[in-house]
Amino acid sequence: MSSGAHHHEVDNSLAGKVRHNTQVHAQRCYQCGKCSAGCPLSADMDYPPSLVLRMLQTGDPVFEDKILRSYTIWVCLSCEMCIQRCPMEVDIPVMMDYLRQESIRQKKVNPKAKNIVSFHKSFLDSIKYTGRLFEFGLVVDYKMRSWKMFQDITLMPGMISRGKLHFIPERIKGIKNISNIFTKVSKEDKK
Ligand code: SF4
Ligand code: SF4
Repeated sequence: MSSGAHHHEVDNSLAGKVRHNTQVHAQRCYQCGKCSAGCPLSADMDYPPSLVLRMLQTGDPVFEDKILRSYTIWVCLSCEMCIQRCPMEVDIPVMMDYLRQESIRQKKVNPKAKNIVSFHKSFLDSIKYTGRLFEFGLVVDYKMRSWKMFQDITLMPGMISRGKLHFIPERIKGIKNISNIFTKVSKEDKK
């Protein structure tokens, strides 16, 4: 006889949140190490990708904190080399993307990643307001956020004359849909 009771156990571990938000199952990883061996940036990371998965698997809050404060999540370029090699098809780039958002949300961003975060925010803002990448706005916004106003400034006239930078942002037709996505995500972030 069924009791009729439904158990909606919420997995509040970081691995649980990754799974819930991205469908990436850290527990599938069996530590073969192929992802770390193939990752072109693992030498620059504080923890190689396979170790991030091992740390997630433990469910230990100390390791979860270390992951969110790591430089690894910001160094990952989403090149997808790891997923091509992974026998278990663990989508590490998607997982890294979620971990970056969570690291910002919990205010645990690694200090070494400050400029990468500035770029990440400028990039998202550009998409949010224009629906596409508005390069000139992105460059100026990034420079203002990162206080690197005059670095690369000499490159700009050449880029403008070759039509690589556009001064007037072009909005796409579906901009409302894009705004809705951002509003939805920010509401979920506040939950
Ligand atoms: S996607 Fe990230 S973790 Fe995977 S191989 Fe590329 S840089 Fe490394
Ligand atoms: S390649 Fe896949 S299974 Fe192997 S360690 Fe990396 S994530 Fe785990």
